[in-house]
Order: sequence, then structure tokens, then C-alpha cells
Amino acid sequence: MTAIDPGTTRNRYRSSQSRSALLHERAARVLPGGNTRTTVHLDPYPPYAMAGRGAIVIDAEGEERIDFLNNYTSLMHGHADPDINNAVIEQLSSGTAFSMPTESEVRLAEIIVERIPSVEQVRFTNSGTEAVMMAIHAARAYTGRPAIVKFEGSYHGSYDHAAVSTTMPRDAWGAEAPPSVPYAAGTPQGVLDDVVVLRYNDVELAERVIEREAGRLAAILVDPMPWRMGLIAGTREFLGRLRELADAHGIVLIFDEVIALRASYHGAQGLVGVTPDLTTMAKIIGGGFPVGAVGGKAEIMSVFDPRGGKPKVPHGGTFSANPITMVAGYISMHKLTEEECQRLDALGAYIREGLAEAMDAARIPGQVTGAGSLFGIHLHDRPLTGYQSWEGTPEDGARRSRVAGALFEHGAVLAPSLTGCLSTPMTETEANALLDAFGAALREIAD
Ligand code: PMP
Repeated sequence: MTAIDPGTTRNRYRSSQSRSALLHERAARVLPGGNTRTTVHLDPYPPYAMAGRGAIVIDAEGEERIDFLNNYTSLMHGHADPDINNAVIEQLSSGTAFSMPTESEVRLAEIIVERIPSVEQVRFTNSGTEAVMMAIHAARAYTGRPAIVKFEGSYHGSYDHAAVSTTMPRDAWGAEAPPSVPYAAGTPQGVLDDVVVLRYNDVELAERVIEREAGRLAAILVDPMPWRMGLIAGTREFLGRLRELADAHGIVLIFDEVIALRASYHGAQGLVGVTPDLTTMAKIIGGGFPVGAVGGKAEIMSVFDPRGGKPKVPHGGTFSANPITMVAGYISMHKLTEEECQRLDALGAYIREGLAEAMDAARIPGQVTGAGSLFGIHLHDRPLTGYQSWEGTPEDGARRSRVAGALFEHGAVLAPSLTGCLSTPMTETEANALLDAFGAALREIAD
């Protein structure tokens, strides 16, 4: 269905007179750096998007690429899905937002509760960042404690506490325990003091520090398959031990499944078999519209319950649970049946194997991570345990960028971290195009 020839190079946007170049010039006058999302910036400027159709994204020059990024994993059904569009158009004609709840919110909540093992009740937000923030608020209110545990290199959006130590300066890599370092300049010391940073998949460090700090810990915030760490999975031993430590010390265990929900029909928690107290979600549950959600045990979620007066955690949000997002999200989740998930799991496995074989054939040591509709490429064969092993040397980073750039030119859009995801319009045609583009990219970095 998708006619992309990976032999053709797509780089018209780089010409100084391209529409993207001219747009960027205009944009940089009114938007710092030329757009609104740090994550979509490319040096010296990114191609601007014109349209999307199924698995294809079309840039302002009219060049088509297969989209394995899907607005950072949020478009489960690719671009402009007709079923989602029809449902949204119908909703548009009867109103986009009300100061009353709607049935659409109930329907999306029901499908999430049915599917995600730990989730008994849900609360919607407009982004993953807000979902994480509300989960932390809930954990603090429930436990009466101020601090959280998070893991170095793990991205959870831009709420102050969740953002601490999202990146770790190399001179701190040797520390016995990772320090709390600001992600945004100007982060108050009080915020840093209330975040205990640990190393991903390091059970021994987690035991030692959590036992010592337990009295002030409200939550352990952990992503069971962090995209920003190249989709290295949390081991069952590691996540299971966090569960035990949380139980032993009355700490709320939060799984951030904003992306990891794609790992299986029942999310990453369904795959690893460890059940958190709260789960944060976003992306695919919004069908391509702004969304987030926090869900979990009814007992903890009751901190949001306004019946009987001011709740422990007041939570508004003018557009939270707006019917456009709720309707789109419901169709997105409803179309993602168990059978469709299994088909994508198999297509994902085909891609993961094909990428590993391509590195073997090119005699480039490498490995592939991911599960379900997610995949991550690593251009080395050192053990992958967490942030430092993912980040590697500055040379590793430069090679990742070169390969991501080459894939882009050969028609496959992935994240600069060499992570990607599938959408339901994809078949083996798109998978093979990716494998061909990857083969071409590897030949180029070998030159
Ligand atoms: N948590 C994780 C694991 C994420 O990957 C992201 C965004 N990529 C967020 C939270 C923040 O979500 P949002 O961009 O919707 O605010």
C-alpha cells in the first residue's frame, strides 16, 4: 500500500530556499528556536509537516516518509484515521467542550479500566506531564509524605519533581548513587531535595536507599520500558522488588506507561506481571488529540473524589476530559483489539529480528530492544541496563544521530534516540521499507 523507495534520498527541505527553510526563518522571529516543542527541533531547522495519511507523513516540500514516530508514539492508527475522524466530526457538530461531564468520558474510562490490570478508576488530563504531576500529588496526599524516587535518565515530562535528573552530566556517572540534578535551569533546591534518584535496574541500590529514605517517600515513579533510554526493559526482578519495597514501606508505586502502554494489549504491566498502585497514561488513549490519564487503586484515587467537600487533591482543567479527545480516544482504543495488538506484536517482532540481522550482515555489533509495537536500535553489543549503558560514549551518540539522519533521508522517520513504533495501517510492506532503509543507513555509516 505504501510506495516508498528507500533508494531515493529525501532532503529537499535542506535547501536554503525550501518552504521549510523559509517557514523556519519566519517562525524563528515569533517562536524561540522556531517552534513550540524542544523534541521536534532538528539542527539547523526541522522540515515542517504539511499532511499525514495512514503510515505516511508528508513534509512541506511534498516529500513522503513512512512515519515510525507517529507524533512520538501517540498515533496508534497513523495519520487521519477515517474512523476517528468521523467520530470527531460528529462530536464537533454537537459541541467541543462543556462545563458538565459527558458520557464520552465514561466510555473511555470503562475501556481503560477493562484493559489495564491495575486500573480501577481513572482521572483524565490534557497531557502526560499533567498525568504524572497528578499521580505524584495523589501519592503525596495519600501517604502524607513529600518525596519521590525516580531513575536517572528517565523522562516523565516537565513537571518539576518528575523532571529532575532526566539527563545526567557525565562527570556524575561514577557517583555511588546518582545525584538530583536540574533538568530546567533554575529548578529550586527544595524540589531537588525531594527527589531521590536511583539507577534503573539496580536492585541493590534501590533496596539500600529506599529502606533508608522510606519515611519521607510518597512514591516510586518508574517507567517499565523507558523510550528515552532506548526502550531498555525493567527486569521482572527489578520491578518486582520495587513492588515489594513499596508494600513494605507504604509507598505508592507509580508506573509511567505514557509510551509503555504499547508494549502489550494490557500495557507493560501486563507483560512483566508486576502491578503498580497508580499508572500514568497518555498518547494512544487520546486517538491523536491532547490527553493524559492517571488511574489505579480506587482507594488511592479517592483523593480526587469531591463528594463530601473539598477533595484531598483538587483537580480541574478546563479541557480535561473534553469530548473531542474522549471520543477520539475511545475509537482509538476500541479499534485496537486484542487481535490487532497481536498482529502488531508479530510485525514488531519481524522488525526487531530484521534490524538485528541487518546489523549482523553489516558486521556492526548491535542489539534491538522493545516489545509490542515498540522497537529500539542500539549500535553496540554492551549489556543494556539503564541510562548510562544506553547513552554510551559521545561517539555512540554521534553514530545514533547519523543513522537516524540517514534513515530519515531514506524515507523512515524514527526518533533521534533510534526508537520507533508501528501504527495499525502498517504491514510487512512498511516493515521491509524500514529494513531496506536501515541497510542503506548502515552502509553509509560504514563509509
Ligand atoms: N512520560 C513519558 C514516559 C513520556 O514519554 C512522556 C512524553 N513523551 C511524558 C511522560 C509526557 O507526556 P506529554 O508529552 O503528553 O506531556
